[in-house]
Amino acid sequence: MHMANQPSQFTIESVSGILRDEGLRITRKRTAILETLFESDAPMTLQEIQQGAAKRAGTTPDFATVFRMLNLMEQLHLVHKVSLQRSSSYYELSDPRKHYDHLVCKKCEQVILIDIPCPIGDTEKRLARQYGFRDLSHSLEFFGVCPACTA
Ligand SMILES: [Zn+2]
Ligand SMILES: [Zn+2]
Repeated sequence: MHMANQPSQFTIESVSGILRDEGLRITRKRTAILETLFESDAPMTLQEIQQGAAKRAGTTPDFATVFRMLNLMEQLHLVHKVSLQRSSSYYELSDPRKHYDHLVCKKCEQVILIDIPCPIGDTEKRLARQYGFRDLSHSLEFFGVCPACTA
């Protein structure tokens, strides 16, 4: 199946290339936004992305710059939103070769990307067959209390 905008490599360079093709100028601040996303191992709010980029670039990108860039990346399926049952939106990179389901601690709010085969991968295929849907995707969030918060 051919998917547009899905590079065989998913790196800062390949993502920058896609954004450049969309007419976005890849400035130092925008590179810092990408570095922040690539170095994070958990979904981030726009504010956290802005702060992370500020640290790397040495100058703070406008909130509107962060917002527009993440919006464009979401349209291009380079990032997706993760629903953490909180008021802010959380964003995470969307590497087409990776899978994104999470464990979320209700006490300390840490978010862990789960490292087991997708629990509903087969169900997704069955749904696609039974309902004739294409390009199915999902995001599973398991909410609980982590070991540190239990101790
Ligand atoms: Zn916890
Ligand atoms: Zn899954």
